[in-house]
Amino acid sequence: MDFDDSPDEAAYRARVRELLERHSGELLRLSPGQENVDARTHEAEMRRTQRVLADAGLVGVPWPKEFGGQGGTLVQQSIVSQELARARVPVLINHIGIGMCGPTVIGHGSQDQRDRYLARLLRADDVWCQLFSEPASGSDLAALRTTAVRDGDDWVVNGQKVWTTLAHVSDYGILLTRTDPERPKHAGLTMFVVDMHAPGVTVRPLRQMGGQSDFNEVFFHDVRIPDSERLGEPGEGWRVALTTLMNERVAIGGAGGAIGPTVETLAQHARDRLPALDPERQVLARQAVGRAVVAALGARYTGYRRLTVLSQGGIPGPEASAGKLAGTEAARLVADAGVRLLGDDALYAATADGDDQWQRTQAYVPGIAIAGGTDQVLRNILGERVLGLPPEPRNDKTAAFSASRSDGGAR
Ligand SMILES: Cc1cc2nc3c(=O)[nH]c(=O)nc-3n(C[C@H](O)[C@H](O)[C@H](O)COP(=O)(O)OP(=O)(O)OC[C@H]3O[C@@H](n4cnc5c(N)ncnc54)[C@H](O)[C@@H]3O)c2cc1C
Repeated sequence: MDFDDSPDEAAYRARVRELLERHSGELLRLSPGQENVDARTHEAEMRRTQRVLADAGLVGVPWPKEFGGQGGTLVQQSIVSQELARARVPVLINHIGIGMCGPTVIGHGSQDQRDRYLARLLRADDVWCQLFSEPASGSDLAALRTTAVRDGDDWVVNGQKVWTTLAHVSDYGILLTRTDPERPKHAGLTMFVVDMHAPGVTVRPLRQMGGQSDFNEVFFHDVRIPDSERLGEPGEGWRVALTTLMNERVAIGGAGGAIGPTVETLAQHARDRLPALDPERQVLARQAVGRAVVAALGARYTGYRRLTVLSQGGIPGPEASAGKLAGTEAARLVADAGVRLLGDDALYAATADGDDQWQRTQAYVPGIAIAGGTDQVLRNILGERVLGLPPEPRNDKTAAFSASRSDGGAR
């Protein structure tokens, strides 16, 4: 495996760095040690940052040119992501729109939908969210219960979604609904674009244990969606959702690029804090830092497997699952080592200098282990697809959803 850029990739990277340097003054930056920013507080600045990057040709790199993208490669997209992380530009506000919703509209939307939505999405004129998970369907996504019922030229939607990242700042979402409960659970689904400002849509932010509110509950009460906002045919929602999930898989699993600055921050933190710890705690903290750095390097190199598949024109499968697992483990160990280095200060919400980044990061990491496929589900994928273990029994593929226990135990 060759970890170095090819000459073309090196030239592209140099161009990206030059563009970031040129627009340096117009971009929102993370302060040292900060790993993310609150989208609600910084919404206007984050939208402006994405717009500047879009106008510089650094957003939607692999999207086809006809939809406002650059017609580039997924490797070039990875290079842009790495350079944005290196320049401490926060994750783009519309990252879900760019990585998942937009490609779904490209793949399954009408020309009218593509014309209306895609250019605005790339420039963060509209922010998008992904309305899939529900209280009783996450890993088992096809068990969802939010209904859409046809009424003339509209569909009427009722139900609840949960965990919806960015819904509180979103203008549109892709919404997976059940339109035919008499068909097997994967066959009775339909996907729509929903206007998040439509009457009957209620967004309720959820407060996380780190204090921030990145995701939300979203309630739909008699929300009317025109049939022209359907993505794909009625009953084909699962096929459309697979496009979204495949793009999610491409978007995640490359944690290695983002881990570099975190390890540097940890190393600096260790230099600052180790001398103040008593000898026994120093030993334990050194070991924790060592384990974290090894895990972070492991995540980086596991991430290169995904890059290798991308550079060969493929779509990462189990490589993305392994990359996400390794990245999550590294993030957990880095955060734990950071907190351990604080000694007794870790007991307080903020350290003496008012910085609680390590506690906040530690509180955030469990979410990473759930979002976009839980650790356990990813291990199932690796077990089945890499180790060749027998698949889990799936006995609900043929019965009507209405007859299944997941529809409230009707049987
Ligand atoms: C930070 C964050 C952001 C998110 N953003 C979004 C978003 O924008 N849009 C959206 O639609 N969703 C989003 N989600 C939801 C996410 O996709 C789900 O939380 C995830 O799929 C897990 O589903 P669940 O929470 O229902 O847990 P469940 O699926 O109920 O799982 C509960 C536990 O059972 C385990 N488990 C489940 N099935 C199996 C199995 N077959 N084998 C072994 N163990 C199993 C799981 O690993 C877990 O430990 C987000 C979640 C988080 C944490």
